[in-house]
Amino acid sequence: MIKSDILIIGAGPTGLFTVFEAGLLKLKCHLIDALPQPGGQCSEIYPKKPIYDIPGFPEVLAGELVDNLMEQIKPFSPGFTLGERAETVEKLEDDSFVVTTNKGTKHNAPIVAIAGGLGSFEPRKPPIASIESLEGKGVEYIIRDPEVYRDKRVVIAGGGDSALDWSIFLADVASEVTLIHRRIVFRGALDSVEKVQELKNQGKINL
Ligand SMILES: Cc1cc2nc3c(=O)[nH]c(=O)nc-3n(C[C@H](O)[C@H](O)[C@H](O)COP(=O)(O)OP(=O)(O)OC[C@H]3O[C@@H](n4cnc5c(N)ncnc54)[C@H](O)[C@@H]3O)c2cc1C
Repeated sequence: MIKSDILIIGAGPTGLFTVFEAGLLKLKCHLIDALPQPGGQCSEIYPKKPIYDIPGFPEVLAGELVDNLMEQIKPFSPGFTLGERAETVEKLEDDSFVVTTNKGTKHNAPIVAIAGGLGSFEPRKPPIASIESLEGKGVEYIIRDPEVYRDKRVVIAGGGDSALDWSIFLADVASEVTLIHRRIVFRGALDSVEKVQELKNQGKINL
């Protein structure tokens, strides 16, 4: 049985920073994550995407942000159960909880913090016939390494922050960037929308 003061389900940015705040109160944390590494969406989906909305960082790669969070919590020596999904929670007579993973690892703590974010990560695929046959051959749902697109012609489909951020970033990497969105209005941050418009005016992005 792994014991801690606070058991955190989810080792994304929220779970990791919880370790820091709890550490200031001298509370020891243990984290469970279904993924094999900490960092949640930042590590799994977009480690090389720049993030522009973290206080104190004009620009930071998602992977670097996770590295910094790991460095920040190191003094509090959290425990990790990685690659295991928390499946059941049971309350004991002393009011503490036992959380058991899909691999049978048991954790006991008086407090369970759920920082599960989106849960599991599944791309929302566009309804295009036989798109599966092109996956991995030019059709991707995650940009893991933008260098793959250097001097290539890239089409990005989407209208949220991710589509806008990558369009802005790849404008200086790819030979041509075309952003396609099904509506006239973008869902992303207004500032990013303006940047995309500027790049369009400079002929660096096709809309
Ligand atoms: C492509 C993309 C780009 C983004 N860009 C930005 C950006 O530029 N700026 C910004 O502020 N935000 C951005 N976001 C959003 C940001 O990544 C999330 O808001 C952030 O990751 C939330 O952190 P979290 O720790 O709450 O959850 P998550 O990062 O989702 O982490 C939750 C963790 O919980 C684990 N988990 C869930 N259920 C269980 C379980 N039962 N057992 C074990 N583990 C479990 C998951 O495996 C996961 O690792 C972006 C998101 C995406 C997808």
